[in-house]
Amino acid sequence: MKEFWSKRVRDMIPYVPGEQPKDRKFIKLNTNENPYPPSPKVLAAAKAAADEALRRYPDPECLALRQAIAAHAELDPSQVFCGNGSDEILSFAFQAFFDKENPITFPDITYSFYEVYVKFLDLTSNLIPLNEDFSLPVERFVREPSGGVVIANPNAPTGQAISLDELRRILNGNREQVVIVDEAYIDFGGDSAVGLIDEYPNLLVVQTASKSRSLAGLRVGWALGNANLIAAMCCVRDSINSYTVDRIAQAAAAAALEDAAYFDQTRRAIMHTRESALTRLQELGFQAAPSKANFLFVRHPKLAGKLVFQALRERGILVRRWDQLRIEDYLRISVGTEEEMDALCAALREIVSG
Ligand SMILES: *Cc1c(COP(=O)(O)O)cnc(C)c1O
Repeated sequence: MKEFWSKRVRDMIPYVPGEQPKDRKFIKLNTNENPYPPSPKVLAAAKAAADEALRRYPDPECLALRQAIAAHAELDPSQVFCGNGSDEILSFAFQAFFDKENPITFPDITYSFYEVYVKFLDLTSNLIPLNEDFSLPVERFVREPSGGVVIANPNAPTGQAISLDELRRILNGNREQVVIVDEAYIDFGGDSAVGLIDEYPNLLVVQTASKSRSLAGLRVGWALGNANLIAAMCCVRDSINSYTVDRIAQAAAAAALEDAAYFDQTRRAIMHTRESALTRLQELGFQAAPSKANFLFVRHPKLAGKLVFQALRERGILVRRWDQLRIEDYLRISVGTEEEMDALCAALREIVSG
């Protein structure tokens, strides 16, 4: 059934996104979406942008949005690149900075899209196993020869973060290649690498409006780095599709960057809920490490992950789980509202007690 397919596509095993159910109302804790709506100012900006100007192409350079991001990050707009979600940004970066002959290093347990890009783009990778406790073996990233490094900080799906000192060691050990730091979850408690950009011309930091700004449906992400790296990203984009971020998205994302008060209020609420949920899950017997992201990565020592996943689903709660070595008994649970976490804990209490 793969008649007419190119060889490359015939052999692909693509990324599988978390389920977006349409038939039934679930408590959705499976894709790390923000449980709070976008800022009212964002919705107003999106509506205002939906006017007759839609007949025109959007600004391919996303200048106004880049200015808003640059102001927030204390950088120059020439150090900012915008794209259709950070997944697109990452796929462009893999094409802009890596070659097949020199394997890219990233952890064995991390965002599974990285390995998909490696296969699809005919690149190669060197997977470095996380330590037993899922912390990052920093020294191996310093020592191993590499054609480039990709690190999610905080890491997904573990929620663990590395410090800026650790990141500096990795950057110092990899001065000849690009180091990508995927900061999809940085606003929930990690230390951002953005302040290191002027010091390291090989550092590319990738962020997104999807998680901390409640805009997964808008599809806006950005890369921050030396203007030379940004120029390579533009070269990839303009070899594929110059208009990756539409008019409405550019206006709405800029409004999100400008509403600092709403951003702070919602991310603090999520961090607060995360800490209380962590304690309650531990009280129910779950092994859960502290997380710097908007999710918890947990397992129960006596219950198979598959069983807990299924039992939650039957109770109307969706979480995420992978059939992958080392983590098959773990569940990744997105932090929802207080009420959603109450429902989660009540369901888990039932499941644990038999
Ligand atoms: C969610 C996520 C992304 C993708 O975010 P989009 O901007 O919605 O494409 C990238 N990296 C990691 C680690 C993520 O969890």
